[in-house]
Amino acid sequence: MTWKATVLTLFPEMFPGPLGLSLAGKALAEGVWQLDAIDIRDFAHDKHRSVDDTPAGGGAGMVMRADIAAAAIDAAKAAAPAGTPAIYLSPRGTPLTQAGVEVLAHGPGVILLCGRFEGLDQRVLDAREIEEVSIGDYVLSGGDLAAHVVMDACVRLLPGVVGNAGTHDEESFASGLLEYPHYTRPREWEGHAIPDVLLSGDHEKIAAWRREQAEALTKKRRPDLWDWRRKAKS
Ligand code: SAM
Repeated sequence: MTWKATVLTLFPEMFPGPLGLSLAGKALAEGVWQLDAIDIRDFAHDKHRSVDDTPAGGGAGMVMRADIAAAAIDAAKAAAPAGTPAIYLSPRGTPLTQAGVEVLAHGPGVILLCGRFEGLDQRVLDAREIEEVSIGDYVLSGGDLAAHVVMDACVRLLPGVVGNAGTHDEESFASGLLEYPHYTRPREWEGHAIPDVLLSGDHEKIAAWRREQAEALTKKRRPDLWDWRRKAKS
């Protein structure tokens, strides 16, 4: 079955955007994955195709209406493979992780609801049991770029998209560590040499050096990951 992404958005023209290029674009053209961008405004009731209204209780900005978002979600669910999870991209969602991406990539696909304005009426999230997922601790102006991020992270894990799938096993997060540093020719550049061990041909030594580097980087830059990994091991 083809992995299918359905995006609910106010800007369908933003898709596939960068995902139409490079490896993801080639895979899309070859039918390795499918992308359906649905305009939420198609589910509006009035001639202005409005999808938002003022916040109950007052305050700044506008809120996306539950009835219109729900109609869009129901249509997306009906057209998606059975068991496709629905996600609302949201800065207050559960942080996206490589483990979460792997679960999504191994499933039938994903429905991604992109917010705009101040966000979505809470009732639709509760009534349709939609998971909220954040791509980081900052606020974007809309969920569309976040949807691209989720899809890109998933699509590169689909069979046949990345030439050497073995690279996934060594990438950052695969083992709970950040990845070791890479080097390539020239052997010396601006007075900086490639570490000798990488040119030694001794695969055991190279693996040990990479492991040390990955551990040191993780401890320094991501003490949260390091502690989590230590706890998981004990
Ligand atoms: N009022 C919201 C808040 O403070 O949490 C922010 C709304 S933001 C301007 C508009 C939309 O962008 C959100 O509904 C969400 O879909 C998307 N968005 C913004 N930041 C995001 C993030 N870090 N991760 C995922 N989606 C995000």
